[in-house]
Amino acid sequence: MSAFRALRIDKTDDGQTVSVVDFPESELMEGDVVVRVTHSTVNYKDGLAITGKSPVVRRFPMIPGIDFAGVVTASESPEYKAGDEVVLNGWGVGETHLGGYAECARVKGDWLVPLVDGLSAADAMAVGTAGYTSMLCVMALERHGVTPERGPVLVTGAAGGVGSVAIALLAKLGYHTVASTGRPEEGDWLKALGASEIIHRDELAAPGKPLQKEKYAGVVDSVGSVPLANAIAQTKSGGAVAACGLAAGMDLPTSVAPFILRGVSLLGVNSVTVPKPIRIEAWGRLARDLDREKLASITKTISFDEIVPTANAIIDGKVRGRVVVEI
Ligand code: NDP
Repeated sequence: MSAFRALRIDKTDDGQTVSVVDFPESELMEGDVVVRVTHSTVNYKDGLAITGKSPVVRRFPMIPGIDFAGVVTASESPEYKAGDEVVLNGWGVGETHLGGYAECARVKGDWLVPLVDGLSAADAMAVGTAGYTSMLCVMALERHGVTPERGPVLVTGAAGGVGSVAIALLAKLGYHTVASTGRPEEGDWLKALGASEIIHRDELAAPGKPLQKEKYAGVVDSVGSVPLANAIAQTKSGGAVAACGLAAGMDLPTSVAPFILRGVSLLGVNSVTVPKPIRIEAWGRLARDLDREKLASITKTISFDEIVPTANAIIDGKVRGRVVVEI
């Protein structure tokens, strides 16, 4: 392929432009593996990149798309050969390194993981960074000793990508899950996914005391800000909160009280630079612990041309569950 179809972000004096282009293969960045990309996805961070709402893109021109799945076409890495099916999420792809909204990508072999048995490339992108991060959050809670017997687990941003996959995973693992959403009309859908209870996100939206009634053994939070502060305040003694997102804001208006008086732990989750053994463990767990019918029920498939409108919709909180892009 001397040139291939790609979405390209260019920086201009007025901000940025996003266009579909024929991208020359000679302009791909350094890497030892070339992949024919078959599927990608739209995460919140992709929405930030394409709308330019936050400066997640650090190099221009940029091909956005923080995730992709596809087939190796050429490799100088001892770990991969032509024909291998691979998945990539993170490592600055779509931010500092040309990303997944393109028919072709060249990356470091170290960034790839083999497509796990039991998942198709489309399934892997239905999971994507959002679902993979949900798995990392659940693994963080497990490592902390949060078990179904300890009590309910709260999931914020429940109708979003991270939230919906977290609910499906936690339900399969036997947890009583409480889904916090601003979209009560999605209540039946969330219950079908495995949510035991639904609360309106307004219940967590107003600034509250740092210590409130103890309700949750664990929390998976993708929204940050005041809702995260309230979730921490409602976590039981010895419980843990896995925090991965900022859909409500970057701030965290709380005090040390929950940490020093209740021994609550705040577990930060960063999916971008996770060491390979943990990546492989997380993808293996996803293949085992994520109900495929539920994954299908939260997933919408779109074409390449629908990436930009979907990126706008995700920033407006209008995307339900996960989105797969057929490249
Ligand atoms: P989505 O847009 O799919 O989900 C976010 C959800 O948050 C929305 O669906 C909505 O849920 C809720 N929400 C949106 N705005 C607000 C608000 N103002 N107040 C409260 N809740 C709100 O995004 P993703 O699931 O892809 O990502 C979620 C977050 O996690 C993002 O901030 C993203 O950057 C972060 N993230 C971080 C990663 C990491 O490595 N740390 C990896 C992946 C994601 P509802 O409609 O149910 O209320």
